[in-house]
Amino acid sequence: MMDDAKLIRETTARLIDWCAEVRRPLPWRLSPTPYHVWVSEIMLQQTRIEAVIPYYTRFLDALPDIPSLAAVEEDRLLKLWEGLGYYSRARNLQKAAKIVMTDFGGELPREATKLRTLPGIGDYTAGAIASIAWGEPEPAVDGNVLRVMTRVLACPDDILQPKTRAGIASLLRGHYPRGERAGLLTEGIMELGETVCLPNAAPKCEACPLNTICRACLRGETDRYPVKSPPRERRIEQRTILLLRCGERYAVRKREGKGLLAGLWEFPSCDGALDGAEALDAVRALGGKAVRIEPCGEAKHVFTHVEWHMRGYRLALAEELPGFLWKTPKEIEADCPIPTALRYYQKKL
Ligand code: SF4
Repeated sequence: MMDDAKLIRETTARLIDWCAEVRRPLPWRLSPTPYHVWVSEIMLQQTRIEAVIPYYTRFLDALPDIPSLAAVEEDRLLKLWEGLGYYSRARNLQKAAKIVMTDFGGELPREATKLRTLPGIGDYTAGAIASIAWGEPEPAVDGNVLRVMTRVLACPDDILQPKTRAGIASLLRGHYPRGERAGLLTEGIMELGETVCLPNAAPKCEACPLNTICRACLRGETDRYPVKSPPRERRIEQRTILLLRCGERYAVRKREGKGLLAGLWEFPSCDGALDGAEALDAVRALGGKAVRIEPCGEAKHVFTHVEWHMRGYRLALAEELPGFLWKTPKEIEADCPIPTALRYYQKKL
């Protein structure tokens, strides 16, 4: 059997050739500038490729370069991000763009160590930008890469442990090429992980360029890898959403600048699953009086560590309450980035 070093050498060589042959012409691959790679990689965190494509195109049309990203108004930025969720990604993009303008002469640095100093850019994104856009010999290790590599190596280590990730990164780094081949290797492993060595289904080993060297495949043990410790349980929070209407307008407000969904817009809400009488009390506590109330459904939204279980009420008020902005549904759609978590209720306006 091949030793690890030879196996990695053979794996990287095969993946580069395979990628050059089969890679999909995704929009960010057509012109892989550092900015394009950066924006696409940030959008692709937590979001599927097919879902990202229209957002990426719209974002690049509006903000074609780092200076325009650094200068855009926050509300417009969040509006462009609306629907992708995890809005801190958009804010970090802008923070980093401002730093790039002031400290790096308007151009993303090419060294992964410098890229990692920018907000929102961790090891993976730094590796992707360095290798794909700059041709640096730097791996980008994400869940796809860990799955492929632990199967190839039949590595029994827990992929959720940072030291496993660091070990795989270090093994790959020792065999990474420079120039265009660096980008092909990064994209090749990602592509294999997304289309062949699948996360939630049996790997398609018969279509894999590594099937004559992959240890897990050769041993018939693909289901044993990757090894993963069970995920942490999410906290469940009950919330009641109050759609307060006065005439044609609804109450909205901007969330605080810190914490979950910071800086986004929301409808008034309370902790807990309130019944109708409690919802009327909640409106009274805000200083208003509802003349009519009707339930408008239950919804659930899953964040990384928290789940919101929501129920909502539409409440008609005779007068607008202070402390909120009052807008028509059209104005809310145009001006206020409402988080995906509350989209269900936005559709009920
Ligand atoms: Fe994954 Fe199968 Fe390819 Fe091994 S041979 S890398 S298990 S698809």
